[in-house]
Amino acid sequence: MPAKTASSSVVQVNSNYLKLKAGYLFPEIARRIKSFSEANPDAALIRLGIGDVTEPLPLACRNAMKVAIDEMGTNTGFHGYGPEQGYDWLREAIAKHDFQTKGCQINAEEIFVSDGSKCDSSNILDILGSSNRIAVTDPVYPVYVDSNVMTGRTGDANQSGRYAGLSYLPINAENGFAAKIPSEPVDLIYLCFPNNPTGAVATRAQLQEWVNYARTNSVLILFDAAYEAFIQNPDLPHSIYEIEGARECAIEFRSFSKNAGFTGTRCAFTVVPKGLKGKSDDGSDVELWNLWNRRQSTKFNGVSYIIQRGAEAVYSAQGQGEINALVSFYMRNAAIIRRELTSAGIEVHGGEHAPYVWLKTPDDMDSWGFFDHLLHNAHVVGTPGSGFGAAGEGYFRLSAFNSRVNVDEAMRRIRAL
Ligand SMILES: *Cc1c(COP(=O)(O)O)cnc(C)c1O
Repeated sequence: MPAKTASSSVVQVNSNYLKLKAGYLFPEIARRIKSFSEANPDAALIRLGIGDVTEPLPLACRNAMKVAIDEMGTNTGFHGYGPEQGYDWLREAIAKHDFQTKGCQINAEEIFVSDGSKCDSSNILDILGSSNRIAVTDPVYPVYVDSNVMTGRTGDANQSGRYAGLSYLPINAENGFAAKIPSEPVDLIYLCFPNNPTGAVATRAQLQEWVNYARTNSVLILFDAAYEAFIQNPDLPHSIYEIEGARECAIEFRSFSKNAGFTGTRCAFTVVPKGLKGKSDDGSDVELWNLWNRRQSTKFNGVSYIIQRGAEAVYSAQGQGEINALVSFYMRNAAIIRRELTSAGIEVHGGEHAPYVWLKTPDDMDSWGFFDHLLHNAHVVGTPGSGFGAAGEGYFRLSAFNSRVNVDEAMRRIRAL
């Protein structure tokens, strides 16, 4: 008998993964950067493409984490598995500072601490039926779409990358980057304000319209508020729960990633109000809180004690001062990008309540054409709008997450084009 040679296993894969198209955006950017850098080894690239923070962690958070590490080295201060929902002191701090003092009726029990809102906004599909009709904006944060594709909630993608079975709501300069209420029936809608990638923000009246629509039509809103800290105008809502009726129709995702620089540290939370209901197969009402609590208790073992202590420090007086300074720093970058692009004759959107500037590509260049133009002639890297959806074609995202020196230099180069 010949020796058995390595062959592929017969296990079946989740073929839904084979439908994925969008994973191609950041690898394609990396490929183009690599081939440019190999041909131009001396070019000093400035990356305004990635949605990652660049400033160091606040001192208040670092100090709290150091104290927690030393506690962990003692018998009395050691912490093993914590509650899957997060420690009560962090849930209390979140409920009080982020919601109750802002007039939202959210209590600590409704806060589920996690290691990221990227995972939460994907994992939430675990507790939702697969026959729900789903709406997303176009362009959109790719995670919402891809997590639906992976769990078999869509058909295949077409030429422009749109998946069968999803409702796409275009957002563009013509509609002020405010999606229209869907004309076809949907059960679930993803909203993100301040928006990644367009930098658009929603007014109270606009959110009230979404909430009214959701309640009238029994739609669940998945509201991503990862960028709420960047809102500059005190009249704009930070949370969907500032809107009358939102407790009956919305789940909110929040994160310490962008306000406190926790992208590498990992801490976030999801708000599931008590009394928010879905339907079971037999038509009876089911509390979503119960299902999410069950899901987290089974599949998640909580965020590290040390990291939760760091997150708690965000709400101290020192922590608040430091995160305000971080946000101001990035928003100053965004203001510089807006000002410099505008005087270069480029149409800009966003960047006023979000760390992203969404620009209209000049001279009707397509998004990838503008990417190559900037890369080759200004040695600046951004993100092609078409990578976020078909309706992002002709737009381009620049991020304010970088040093002042790099932002100034990138703008000088763009103006010199
Ligand atoms: C960065 C970001 C988040 C935060 O994700 P984490 O997993 O908490 O780091 C959530 N939503 C959007 C749209 C983002 O851009």
